[in-house]
Amino acid sequence: MHVMVLGAGLTGVTTAWYLRRAGFDVSVIDRQPAAGLETSYANGGQISVSHPEPWANPSAPLVALRWLGRIDAPLRLRPRRDPAQWRWLLAFLRECLPARARRNTEAIAALARYSAAQLRSLREELGLGYEFLGRGILHLFFSERAFRGAAERVATLARLGIRAQLCSREEVLAIEPALTGAAERLAGGIFAPDDESGDAFRFTQALAAKCEEAGVRFYYNTRIHRLLHTGGLIDAVEVEDAAGHVGQLSAGAYVICLGSYSPALVAPMGERLPIYPVKGYSITAPVADPARAPWVSLTDESARIVCSRLGHRLRVAGTAELNGFDTTIDPLRGQSILRWVERRLPGAIDPAKAQLWAGLRPATPGNIPVIGKGRGVNLWYNTGHGTLGWTLACGSAAALATLMSGGRPSPAFPFVGRA
Ligand SMILES: Cc1cc2nc3c(=O)[nH]c(=O)nc-3n(C[C@H](O)[C@H](O)[C@H](O)COP(=O)(O)OP(=O)(O)OC[C@H]3O[C@@H](n4cnc5c(N)ncnc54)[C@H](O)[C@@H]3O)c2cc1C
Repeated sequence: MHVMVLGAGLTGVTTAWYLRRAGFDVSVIDRQPAAGLETSYANGGQISVSHPEPWANPSAPLVALRWLGRIDAPLRLRPRRDPAQWRWLLAFLRECLPARARRNTEAIAALARYSAAQLRSLREELGLGYEFLGRGILHLFFSERAFRGAAERVATLARLGIRAQLCSREEVLAIEPALTGAAERLAGGIFAPDDESGDAFRFTQALAAKCEEAGVRFYYNTRIHRLLHTGGLIDAVEVEDAAGHVGQLSAGAYVICLGSYSPALVAPMGERLPIYPVKGYSITAPVADPARAPWVSLTDESARIVCSRLGHRLRVAGTAELNGFDTTIDPLRGQSILRWVERRLPGAIDPAKAQLWAGLRPATPGNIPVIGKGRGVNLWYNTGHGTLGWTLACGSAAALATLMSGGRPSPAFPFVGRA
C-alpha cells in the first residue's frame, strides 16, 4: 500500500523510515525545503527517558501561579481570544489530577523505554551521525526544598523500570566536573546513566537521506492546503508547490505528522485533536572553554532548562509560552537562557556567538502523543509529542508501523483507535 506521510519533522521522517521498513510504499510532504526545519530544528537534544512526568501534575497549578507576571518565568501564558487555547488549558488542569498524572507518567515511561531501545538499534544498524552522546542525564536541584522530593522520584523511576540514582553535591561534581562553578548553590541531583543526547536536526536529516536511499519520495517546498475527502475516506491531499501551482497527491492511507499544525487539517473531517502550540526557546553557541562545558546532558529542575553538548557546540533550551502560533523571537527569552549559562556554567560559551531559536512544541494537555488510527477510514496519526518528541520519535514511529501492519505494539500505551 502507498502511504502519504504529512510532515517531515522528527516524527514524519521516523514514521517514513519504519513504514518503509515494514514494506509500505512511502511518500512524504513538507512545506519546507528540507527535513527537520521547524520544531525539530534546535531542541534540547535530550533522549530523556528519566523524565516521564508530564508538565500537568498535581504541583503544576501552584508553580504556575508563583511564576505569574515574572518576565523571566519558565512558563508564560498570554491569554488570547482563542477557544482552542482555553479548552486546552482546562484540559491541562484536568490532567493535573493525581490519578491522571500517574497514568500519563506510566504511559510515557513505557513508550520512552521502547523508543530508546528502537533508537539504539537504528543507530547501530545505520551508523547515523548526529553528535550522539551516551553519558546519561543529570537532573540538578539548586534548593534543599526541591531536592527533598528527589528520593521519591528515584523510587518512582525504579518502579517504572528506569535506572536512576540519587546523588549528593560531591557525586554530581564527580559525574560532571564542569558544574564546579555552580557547586556552591547545588543541593544535589538525580543521575540517569542510560539517557542520551544528540542533535535531533542532524538525526532527522541523516535518516531522511537513508529513507530516500530506501525509495521514499519526498515532496519538499510543498504546502498542504486541505484533505479532499468523501465522508470519512480521504481521496487526496490538495497541495501547492513553490511556484504556486495547486495540485493533488493521493495514496491509500495518510499519516498526520504536522506537529502543532495537525488539528487544523483534520478538523473539517470532524476530528478533534487536543494539540496546542507551546513555544520554547534555545540558544546554540560554540564551546569557548572545553573544560567548562559539560559532556553529560543536564536538566535544571527548577528553571526548567536543559543543556546538551553537541560536539563543539552547547545547546541550552527551555521556557514555555502559550501564545498561539506566534513564532517571533523575543530577545529577552534568549537573555534569560544566557543568564542561566553564566550562573551555572560560567565561561563555557561565548555568549556573543549564541544563536537564538524558537519552536512550537505540539503539546497535548497530558503530554501523551496521539498515535494510531483516526476515525477517518484511511487516516492515521503520529503527532502531539510536546516536550518529548525527540525521546519518543523512534518508538512512536515503530509502534505506528506495527499498528498499520495489523500488529500490536509492545508498549503499554493508549494508542488511539485500537479495539
Ligand atoms: C525549546 C524546545 C526544546 C525541546 N527539547 C527537547 C528535548 O530535549 N528532548 C525531546 O525529546 N524533545 C524536545 N523538544 C520537543 C521536540 O522537539 C518536538 O516534540 C518535536 O520536534 C516535534 O516533532 P514533529 O515532527 O512532530 O514536529 P515538527 O518538527 O514541527 O514537524 C512538523 C512538520 O510539518 C510541516 N508542516 C506543517 N504544516 C504544514 C503544511 N500545511 N504543509 C506542509 N508541511 C507542513 C512543517 O514544515 C514541519 O516540518 C523540545 C522542543 C522545543 C521547542
